[in-house]
Amino acid sequence: MAEQLIYLDNAATSWPKPDCVGEAMVDFLTHRAGNPGRGGHRLAREASQVLEEVRERLAGLVNAPCPQRMILSHGCTDALNLAIHGVLRADMRNRCDGTKPHVVTTAIEHNAVLRTLHCYATSDLITMTIVPCDKQGYVHADKLIEACTDCTALMTLSHASNVLGTIQPIEATIKAVRAHDPEILIMVDAAQTAGHFPIDVQGWDIDLLPLAGHKGLRGPTGTGGLYVSPRAYPDECDKTRVFCQRRGGTGSMAPGLEMPTKLPDALEAGTSNAVGFAGLIAAIDALTHEVHEHEMAMTDQVLKGLHAIPSVTIYGLPTIVGRTPVVLFNIEGTHPRDVMTTLDAEHGIAVRGGVHCAPLLHEAIGTGSDGGVRVSPGSGTSAKQIDIFLDAIRAMTPQHA
Ligand code: PMP
Repeated sequence: MAEQLIYLDNAATSWPKPDCVGEAMVDFLTHRAGNPGRGGHRLAREASQVLEEVRERLAGLVNAPCPQRMILSHGCTDALNLAIHGVLRADMRNRCDGTKPHVVTTAIEHNAVLRTLHCYATSDLITMTIVPCDKQGYVHADKLIEACTDCTALMTLSHASNVLGTIQPIEATIKAVRAHDPEILIMVDAAQTAGHFPIDVQGWDIDLLPLAGHKGLRGPTGTGGLYVSPRAYPDECDKTRVFCQRRGGTGSMAPGLEMPTKLPDALEAGTSNAVGFAGLIAAIDALTHEVHEHEMAMTDQVLKGLHAIPSVTIYGLPTIVGRTPVVLFNIEGTHPRDVMTTLDAEHGIAVRGGVHCAPLLHEAIGTGSDGGVRVSPGSGTSAKQIDIFLDAIRAMTPQHA
């Protein structure tokens, strides 16, 4: 049994978190842990202040026009559900011609998107088109445009694949789609890019941007957000294209049975994970460009090392150019789950084997239901750790055995 722990699963959630994250959470629990927005007392006010601060930080991070357009969520799945259910329900409510909403999605999407849409499609409530990707994980704009119909209510595309790390040329893709259909609602899943790369929701004309606080941003699990554009949710609220699916207390407009119509309260019901967001503020403040450069240097070392092992196949892009800190590979003749289990049990190395909640992407690249082994270095990864990982892979290859 290995004593060491080498964590190479940062695409699932980053670890270790910067020390300041835990410290900020302890400080919040000790001194400020009231219920945000509920009650006029000091503790409630201080907890509310945390939510306002994290909203500002997230809005700054993605260049949102104002913090109120940043809805706080419990993670990226939660934000994606908020957006998908919200858009579909609003579209069904606004549609008076008896047609069904149509959704354009892609083969690179995570199950958080695919399963949510599948549930509507199998209940015959929507039609949907799944646009394929190429072997490198790119989804081509012309195929997205071709898939649009007069009934398309939503287009959803991941900014980067959680399996291959391939980053979509999202700005150019959206520009091309908008030239064809200026008013279509476009959602970009930023689970794998927020914190790693600059995002510009205004410059790129994104309508809905769900993100996770616990991956590239290095905040705690249970934190995330959803940016909502003026096109999706105009300030004159009777024209909203996002229905408020989750209802409940907001601390505002308390006597009424209707939800408030102003953002963020319109889409944020219930007690927020304020302790998590206190940690996320500290995490965002600790992010530097050097952190990302280090992650990419570690990814480069993984790629170069794996390329030199004859029985290893690497999928997707050949180098670190155009990718997140994620590498997918297989060892000839060894099931990816066995690679994962051996790395964990014999070497104390944490990677993720399987299909990574993205079954259509694995079908597209030919790895099918077995999937592959995903390595995702993080800010806490050292060059020495990558060497140990590469030695462990070499020891598992047929030539070596
Ligand atoms: N989308 C993508 C592309 C992801 O990689 C993930 C997490 N693996 C999710 C959505 C879901 O995010 P969360 O874990 O925050 O719910």
